[in-house]
Amino acid sequence: MTFMLSDSLMCVDMLHIGRQLEVLDACMDWHHADVMDGHFCPNLTLSPDMVKAVCSVAKKPVEVHLMTTRPDDWIDRFAQAGAAMISVHAETINTAAFRLIRKVRQAGCKVGIVLNPATPFDTIRHYIDEADRLTLMTVDVGYAGQPIVPQVIDKIREAAEFKKRSGLKYEIQIDGCCNRTTYRTYAEAGAEILVMGSGLFNLSPDIARAAALMKQQQEEALAGLT
Ligand code: MG
Repeated sequence: MTFMLSDSLMCVDMLHIGRQLEVLDACMDWHHADVMDGHFCPNLTLSPDMVKAVCSVAKKPVEVHLMTTRPDDWIDRFAQAGAAMISVHAETINTAAFRLIRKVRQAGCKVGIVLNPATPFDTIRHYIDEADRLTLMTVDVGYAGQPIVPQVIDKIREAAEFKKRSGLKYEIQIDGCCNRTTYRTYAEAGAEILVMGSGLFNLSPDIARAAALMKQQQEEALAGLT
């Protein structure tokens, strides 16, 4: 098997973003924009203007991962910026999940649902059938380069089994600690798409070389898996 791959835009070299995007556009399937508001998690990251600039040149679709206390405030802004998918956290939408999912669709975007490591899969059971993608965080939100929360592996399995049993289509994405030490574990548990942060960008300052090394490491890690 092979994973679909999404590069984490918060990890690009901001001084050379144009050049790096060109390389990533050629070898990745998606671009992933982490939006942190300093409230839902303790960091500030990408903005609608930045996403708009990326979308103006990128050939691959951009997923916006809203780590904001009030996703409702940002859905239209990022849809207008060109996002192909908007992913929202169960922890922030569960008082208005159906309305907000509809809002993302009406804005013309695909729908992603995200779960923090500590949030059980059961939380989203009543609306996961409406999602195009389910993202399971394997680290707490806020920073790149954190160690894995191993309890999430069972949740990946649970999400994969539920998907199969229910005949649903959502893609299972992993966000956090995607690298050579975890590829096989994620694949065996049922992951289909990975958000590549430190596991890609830390391999080399030359992004083309980093991407080649990443692909080689994935091939080695996934050898023999169908
Ligand atoms: Mg993310």
